[in-house]
This record gives sequence, C-alpha cells and structure tokens, in this order.
Amino acid sequence: MNLKDFIRSIPDYPKKGILFRDITTLIKDEKAFAETVNRIVEKSKKFEFDKVAAIESRGFVFASAVSYILKKPFIMLRKKNKLPADVHSIDFELEYGTATIEVHKDSIEENENVLIIDDLIATGGTAEAAAKLIEMSKGKVAAFIFVINLFDLGGCDTLIKNHYKVENLIEFPGH
Ligand code: AMP
Repeated sequence: MNLKDFIRSIPDYPKKGILFRDITTLIKDEKAFAETVNRIVEKSKKFEFDKVAAIESRGFVFASAVSYILKKPFIMLRKKNKLPADVHSIDFELEYGTATIEVHKDSIEENENVLIIDDLIATGGTAEAAAKLIEMSKGKVAAFIFVINLFDLGGCDTLIKNHYKVENLIEFPGH
C-alpha cells in the first residue's frame, strides 16, 4: 500500500504559499490508517523507550493507537493552557506562526526514554520544542517518528545533526 496516495495536498492553506498535507484522507480509510499505525509500530522496534509522547493534535491520532498496541504509557504534549496541573512550557516558531506547547511536570520521570510521534515534520521547530519539554522533565528522547517528512524544509536533518534518531514513513518535497 502506498500511503502517499492517501494524503490530500491543499495549496495555500492555511495561508498563501503553504501546501498543506492533509492526513484526514488517510485516517478516514481504515486500512490506510491501520497500515500507518502498524508501520510506526514496526519502526519503533529499533528503539528502546518507556513512554510514547505526541504533539497536539494530529500527533495524538497516531500515537495513541501506537501506545495502545505497544502497551506503553501515552503522554500528551499540549497547546498552551490546555493542561490543568503544573506544566513545563516552551515557546517556539512554526512554519506559519508561533506557538507554545506544554507537558505536565509529573508525566515523565528522570531518565525515562520517550518516543515522540507527530503527523508531520516541516522546519522541525515543533519537534525541537517537544524534545526540550522531555528534557526539561529530565527524560531522554529515544527517537522521533513522523508520518510525513517535508524534506526540503530541513527539520529532519536538523534533528539528526543534533544527535536525535528520526524515522519517517512518507517523504514529500517542501511547499
Ligand atoms: P514544523 O514545526 O515546521 O516542523 O511544523 C510541524 C507542525 O506543523 C506539525 O505538527 C504539522 O502538523 C504542522 N505543519 C507544518 N507544515 C505543514 C504542512 N505543509 N502541511 C500540514 N501540516 C503542517
């Protein structure tokens, strides 16, 4: 199955110049969704980790299924002011704007290895912020797995340069 065929590309969304890679067309096909989750599970077997973390909100769609299959705890990295207890917080730049993500301070124990999953990596700003949240919690990033890598935007290369392990399922050029 070619998962790429299930991604819809929408020009100039959410603003001019961005070619939006839409995963709703992948997850509405139950076979493509299951195949995607299974491929993430297969890739994850290369790494040793205690917990699965994902970035709100499309990361949650894939990562919660992976965590269920692997019987590993699931940690939500959420947008600002969504988590009710004490949080670590980090601001970062997006391909189209700025944002803040947070994690509960009691989500990750010291030295725990965390696999981070997201739907897509573009510039890598979100992924680096996610890694910082894990590290602020005194955990370690075991690896990143993305469904889609927009390779022209260099996020994946930056993560590798910074000694993170990265796996992707689908490659598209930049915009
Ligand atoms: P970045 O921080 O630049 O790597 O952006 C990654 C985040 O923004 C991911 O969580 C994506 O869901 C979203 N994103 C960025 N660019 C796109 C795009 N071209 N199509 C769909 N989602 C995108």
